[in-house]
Amino acid sequence: MITHSPSQYFQHTLNRSISFIGRGLHTGLAIRMMIQPAPANTGHVFVRQDVPLDQAEVPARWNTVTDTRLSTTVANRFGVKVATIEHLMAALHACGVDNARIVLNGPEVPIMDGSAEPFVRLIRQVGLQQQEEERRAILVRKPVRVEEDGKSASLLPNPRPWMDMMIEFDSEVIGHQHLSVSVEAESFETELANARTFGFEDQINTLRKLGLAKGGSLQNAVLVNENGVVNVEGLRHADEFVRHKILDAIGDLSLAGNPIIGRFNGFCSGHGLNNTLLRKLLQSVDSWTLTTMRGAEEYWNWTRVQKMPSGW
Ligand SMILES: [Zn+2]
Repeated sequence: MITHSPSQYFQHTLNRSISFIGRGLHTGLAIRMMIQPAPANTGHVFVRQDVPLDQAEVPARWNTVTDTRLSTTVANRFGVKVATIEHLMAALHACGVDNARIVLNGPEVPIMDGSAEPFVRLIRQVGLQQQEEERRAILVRKPVRVEEDGKSASLLPNPRPWMDMMIEFDSEVIGHQHLSVSVEAESFETELANARTFGFEDQINTLRKLGLAKGGSLQNAVLVNENGVVNVEGLRHADEFVRHKILDAIGDLSLAGNPIIGRFNGFCSGHGLNNTLLRKLLQSVDSWTLTTMRGAEEYWNWTRVQKMPSGW
């Protein structure tokens, strides 16, 4: 039997607002950000304080994603953008925050230390408030797969949210890494939250020419060159790279707007492919059902009963 704790059946928001100050990884801008409680069924909505009020809201949704080069950017119909949302989205999703208004005074979420840990720490500190509306879930019923340039990503039916990622880099320090983990608040906090974003020294100049990575430093990213890891403190986990790729994918998939009850299998999948997968899933209406957490649980318990050999 699959059962959830009663609170998992309901939507949650924060008990009170939390604030962050930091630089945007790509814009390099100093940003102030406040995450505020929001009513049930709001989802995650960014509010830009530095643009006219009627253009300020940018919903964080799979269909508002406009750029996936190195980070996930969302924009509204006025072209107002918020970049590098994925680590914050992963933290909100994994901690069970369904609804939040994220007020910020610039076009990018502060990168903090390059991981989701600073967000998780403050969310934990203020705690969650249960709301009256039931939490809905996207129950994957048929496999969906996308492929591009030898990379792939798929979502498969599974009773619990699960992430499996394999990466291969032409770099000795990264090489081949594989990790398979369930997505729950506790495992996210211990296994994934502190894994930092990473980049390669020989690509920095190219990125800067493209106007990216202007705020990148050894304080908010792991830098890799032909000799290994440049950061003097070294790595937080021997396989910090694959852990970070899973963290990114959790953030990207959370843009479905509801938790996905299914298993993600990624091979070298990044922001672009993660979003393509989400679009393919949500547009293949026979591959999933929108239900409540209780509905997802009943579906899987029923599926197991059907599969039991006769005589049981
Ligand atoms: Zn990342």
